[in-house]
Amino acid sequence: MCGIVGYIGKKLAFPILLSGLKRLEYRGYDSFGFFVLDSNPPATPNKPFLFKKVGKISEAEGELSNLKVDGGIGIAHTRWATTGAVTEVNAHPHFDCREDIFLVHNGIIENYREIKEKLEKEGHKFRSQCDSEVLCHLIEKYFNGNLEEAVRKTLKEVRGAYGIAVISKKDPQKIVLAKLSSPLLLGIGEDEFLVASDPAAVITHTRQVINLDDNEIAVIKPDNFFILKEKPLVQIEWTLEEAEKKGYPHFMLKEIMEEPEAIENAIRGRLMIEEGSVKLGGLDSISEKLREINRLILVACGTASFAARVGEYMLEEYAEIPAEVDIGSEFRYRKPVVDKNTAGIFVSQSGETADTLAALKEMKQKGILTLGITNVVGSAQARETDAGVYTRSGPEIAVASTKAFLGQLATLAMLTVYLGRQREMALVMGKRIVSELAKLPELAKDVLKSAPEIEKLAKKYKDYKNFWFIGRKYNAPIASEGALKLKEISYLHAEGVAGGELKHGSLALIDENFPTVAICPSDSVYEKMVSNIQEIKARGGPVIAVATEGNEDIKKIVDDVIYIPKTLEMLTPMLSVIPLHLFSYYVAALLGHDVDRPKNLAKSVTVE
Ligand code: GLU
Repeated sequence: MCGIVGYIGKKLAFPILLSGLKRLEYRGYDSFGFFVLDSNPPATPNKPFLFKKVGKISEAEGELSNLKVDGGIGIAHTRWATTGAVTEVNAHPHFDCREDIFLVHNGIIENYREIKEKLEKEGHKFRSQCDSEVLCHLIEKYFNGNLEEAVRKTLKEVRGAYGIAVISKKDPQKIVLAKLSSPLLLGIGEDEFLVASDPAAVITHTRQVINLDDNEIAVIKPDNFFILKEKPLVQIEWTLEEAEKKGYPHFMLKEIMEEPEAIENAIRGRLMIEEGSVKLGGLDSISEKLREINRLILVACGTASFAARVGEYMLEEYAEIPAEVDIGSEFRYRKPVVDKNTAGIFVSQSGETADTLAALKEMKQKGILTLGITNVVGSAQARETDAGVYTRSGPEIAVASTKAFLGQLATLAMLTVYLGRQREMALVMGKRIVSELAKLPELAKDVLKSAPEIEKLAKKYKDYKNFWFIGRKYNAPIASEGALKLKEISYLHAEGVAGGELKHGSLALIDENFPTVAICPSDSVYEKMVSNIQEIKARGGPVIAVATEGNEDIKKIVDDVIYIPKTLEMLTPMLSVIPLHLFSYYVAALLGHDVDRPKNLAKSVTVE
């Protein structure tokens, strides 16, 4: 779930590991650790360096910067605990009984209990409660002089997800890497190699990386590397600049401010206004197959699942294809009934979301056409789907997803036009959607101008403990997204519900201490939303409305209004969500929270 960095080469490993780990800090973690082996020991070799700590790297910065650590081979880890409490002993690197094998692991070993029991019976002594430790003892058990061979045998016994980097004192001069359902890449430098779970950790050293595939084992040595099969080199597309804060106090605020750009990047070069159509190169290879599709299943998790729900409304209304959304963790265990005319659309910012990937594998086994919408080029999802469209949102560093959501919505709108125009969508309708899409980046910039007013509202409402978010039709999923964002970073209780659903139970909670954010643009369900707002006002609940510019009437019934410009109904979510992202951000920042790295959460969720 969290981060791995490894280095082997002529330089001192420790400073490289330290700066690499810092670049992974954004992902959220609870503890961290390093292991460095002296690659060229003098006659009296230095003791290998092992350091683990609970908390943030910045809190140990003084101690760490004074350390002089020799050695050009090392691994480091930030942990987001899945198994075993957040303690120093449970932090990585873990090691075996003889303290020969050192390992860092991202992911989760699902059958660790049974392996541990067996190994304990065989005499292995465990030090921690962490699942990852079983890997060290299994490698110890199988080690016969060759580390990669022992790793290979070990991995045959484990179930779950892993990205691992392993060093052995008995087979030094190498780091062995392997992955399954958790990202891992190899950075190729000059006379040095790096390993990382995220390109951010290697970008200052090299832009040449190889993404490892599932079930692959790689070995990096000071002067060469090998993988079990040939892999193409990939160029990292974004720059370091893009991954930095550019003067904003938090990545999240920077990323919200980049929301217009995220729409712009998604649509650039893809809109064909005269033809009322779109060009999605990633779908060319399956374009004929898509004509045959008569049912769509969209699978995603968290924020991406709300984008998928907006997509469901778009695809049904304008492409006239029956569509449904399921979340990855449910879909994979359902027994979905699909046929050859069904296609799966998988939406994930990172393209590494374990639950979504598992659902994708499920679909592929059924022989169903699979399409991906992701932000990360070369991610597992991008590699495993039959075809797909990149959202091109740029690196998203804050744990809570914002601009990538806009990229997903814009991409789903384009997919709707693409599929619609293959079917019954008229030229004029295609033109209308495409030309409105082209205007959206400018309209989104207008919404951002209300940031100071939204900050004022955040001041006014930050001390409430509970919030409703309501919306209808295209904005019902946006209500869920607004609530999720507030929960994620401000730790306040919030729920998103379809406006019409409130009276079926939830209304019982409304009183003067329970404000509601009501998304009510002037669209086909506006009147209905007004009725819902009145139901809330009648019970004393404060209401903040997100309404269309020019709607002065709404001021008479609600407490506060945030205005967004007018656009096509199906595109309003791309404007209405922006104030909600800003609101959550300001509330959390005013409450003094670590906005970019909320507690208990990790960026790309690579465990089930
Ligand atoms: N399952 C391991 C643990 O709990 C690894 C977690 C991670 O990916 O950070 O330590």
